[in-house]
Amino acid sequence: MKIICIGRNYADHVKELGNTMPTKPLIFMKPPSALLVNDKPLYYPEFTKDLHYEAELVLKICRNGRHVQPEFAHKYYDQVAFGIDFTARDIQQQCKEKGHPWEIAKGFDGSAAISKFVNMDKLKNSKTIEFSMKKNDEIVQRGTTDDLIFDFNYLITYVSKYFKLQQGDMIYTGTPAGVGPVQIGDKLEGFIEDKHLLTCDIK
Ligand code: ZN
Repeated sequence: MKIICIGRNYADHVKELGNTMPTKPLIFMKPPSALLVNDKPLYYPEFTKDLHYEAELVLKICRNGRHVQPEFAHKYYDQVAFGIDFTARDIQQQCKEKGHPWEIAKGFDGSAAISKFVNMDKLKNSKTIEFSMKKNDEIVQRGTTDDLIFDFNYLITYVSKYFKLQQGDMIYTGTPAGVGPVQIGDKLEGFIEDKHLLTCDIK
């Protein structure tokens, strides 16, 4: 199982970090050991002083495929979850400045919080999926798939040119604006539509 992540996939988030607008998806990976399941807490890593949350919709791949054609892309996922791409922003910044890979800033243990998956056909509106995250009972991020720069089907086609998609793989599809820091004691809660799917305490 692999965890594929897409960076810079919502225009308002690209702007808030001062990055340039992408012309193709930006891909990175997290190892399976990054997964944080069953509403477990995240222990604030000792190597960072600027841990950020990024609320994201996560697709689960339901069949194997390479070089998936756009018209068939929708057959490769049928479930979505709420995920948090935890990022050590200070370490990521250092990596970016040096032109180094991001793994230590984004792939550390517990950096991929994930809720249970829900069937997309159970959603009220699977064409436009809305999601949001609360920090300490206040909404800090809100997103809708209408605002994706690269939509789910495009991501499936693009990613499968480089990496064979395998059943059980996950794709973190990017975060909207509103990313920010967490501190020990904070509580994060994730929602798809009005369904409460994830709680993550920072310890
Ligand atoms: Zn992200």
